[in-house]
Amino acid sequence: MKAVIFDVDGVIVDVRESYHLAIKRTAEEFLGKEVSLDLIREIKYSKSINNDWDVTYEVIKHLGGSADYGKIVERFTEVYRGLRDREKQILSSGIFRELKERGVPLGIVTGRPKSDLDFVLDRFNLRGFFDVTVDEDDVADKNLRKPHPFPLHLCMETLGVGEALYVGDSPADLEMVAYYRKIYGKPVRFVHFRKVVKINLPADFTAEEEGDLRTLLLGEVCPNREGEQVSRP
Ligand SMILES: [Mg+2]
Repeated sequence: MKAVIFDVDGVIVDVRESYHLAIKRTAEEFLGKEVSLDLIREIKYSKSINNDWDVTYEVIKHLGGSADYGKIVERFTEVYRGLRDREKQILSSGIFRELKERGVPLGIVTGRPKSDLDFVLDRFNLRGFFDVTVDEDDVADKNLRKPHPFPLHLCMETLGVGEALYVGDSPADLEMVAYYRKIYGKPVRFVHFRKVVKINLPADFTAEEEGDLRTLLLGEVCPNREGEQVSRP
């Protein structure tokens, strides 16, 4: 059966008030001037940067500043910890439950560090839905992280599936899936979930709301569900 693999930020949780604001506040501290969220999003999406530490570094550089990468990470982490309670769940638990009840293997591939992934999975009580999760700490080599397709490969292999849909919201997600198909050759298709950040991407599928996404996923992963049930011994 096809698996469904999810991105976290912008798909499962709204991070506009946490990660995006942490980039802004951290960059502002290092630059000593105000930075707009629009500029931050423009840099993140136009350069396909997945890791928000990297985005912060790029924003500082773009505005003529300079800072030690390690110090950025340290400060960003502190700022994020103060904002993470503002995160809201986007997709309801119902959609994961329904897929799981139909036997669909479910995974996560995210650029969150493990402690930040644990935080959302526990906070929104989502852990039990996912068979495999791949976070930033699972991929030690920075060059092999999203948009490199290795994390997706790791998730597919651990799930033991040959086909999947990846639900993401950013150019880095789309690139990861495109590179995956090129390098690993297995049919993974990209579903662009546009509910929070309304950018345009040349995706295989696009869903605006949870209802559209649910219909799409169920249609793709269990198209003959009724027939299968009848023919089952
Ligand atoms: Mg995302």
